[in-house]
Amino acid sequence: MTTFLDFLQRQRAFLLTGHENPDGDCLGAQVALFHLLRALGKQVHIVNPDPIGKAFDFLRRHTPFGHARGDDELPEFDAVVLLDCSQISRVGALGQRLLASGKPIGVIDHHVGSEHGDGTACFVDATAAATGALVRRLYRELGQPLSPAAAEGVFLSLIADTGWFRYSNADAEVFAMAGELVAAGVDGSLIYDNLYRQNHPESAQLLAALLARHRLLLDNRLALCAMDKALMERAARIDFDTDAVLDPLRSLDGVEVVALLKERYDGNVKCSLRARRDIDVQAIAATFGGGGHKKAAGATMNMPLQQAEAAIEAAVATALGDAARRR
Ligand code: AMP
Ligand code: MN
Ligand code: MN
Repeated sequence: MTTFLDFLQRQRAFLLTGHENPDGDCLGAQVALFHLLRALGKQVHIVNPDPIGKAFDFLRRHTPFGHARGDDELPEFDAVVLLDCSQISRVGALGQRLLASGKPIGVIDHHVGSEHGDGTACFVDATAAATGALVRRLYRELGQPLSPAAAEGVFLSLIADTGWFRYSNADAEVFAMAGELVAAGVDGSLIYDNLYRQNHPESAQLLAALLARHRLLLDNRLALCAMDKALMERAARIDFDTDAVLDPLRSLDGVEVVALLKERYDGNVKCSLRARRDIDVQAIAATFGGGGHKKAAGATMNMPLQQAEAAIEAAVATALGDAARRR
């Protein structure tokens, strides 16, 4: 932590970024760090590889978000901070430009193995429920009070990665922090409404179509949903959050792993894995070059959709077999 604080204190102008398709943890942590660095008198810009979705627009009340694609101009910066991931390869084309700049890269992350990423200075803890919780610790360490904007950022991080405090990573630190953040003025219901109550009128039909497509495999222990390019385009057109299929599938009795496979425009397949009980989906994702956490992980698979479905089924079968042998 001290070396990381030194890194923050030494540099003057920061560019904050994160993984492609930034989620609530990534954006919430960026909000909190943006306001911390500003309070320390630094110049700060948030530049993500993708624009923020409409659901996150409410954050613009207090925090400016930028994104850069292709050779879009970048603001001036002396240092990069990567949030909620540790590898430049997860930052898309923007990541390569940041790497080529030769500027130091700070990493704040809570994924397994993030100390082995591209950070020249790291503040990482794989036991932390969310990246935003780590930024909260930086405020404490520096004796800085949380502004209402920063409190909203940290709260967003917590709810995003704990599924509104339902997952097993919702530990004592999370609940203590949540109490403190609400006391500081965070309006949870405003965040909820923004995130989940602005869906396009066609969303219910698309959700139904996706759920109707799921297959139960391996004695109902694997629920798999594959989205081909046509479905992906439909989802993109109405700004549909594909994560909506994960929890209904994870709720089915007997299901231990949920796999959502999304065919991307470049032909690769983005795979999201969620687990119940003791199956380690991070280890499964790692066999495809991905990563994440024990109960939520992902990978980009360089193969056609059907082949990816078969590969995931085989990998989950192996993991279930290994788990049974360990018992
Ligand atoms: P997702 O399914 O994309 O919501 O991701 C679930 C978890 O796995 C998140 O914590 C991600 O940051 C992580 N993750 C997703 N894709 C990758 C990847 N290609 N490499 C490493 N971690 C990933
Ligand atoms: Mn994330
Ligand atoms: Mn996270």
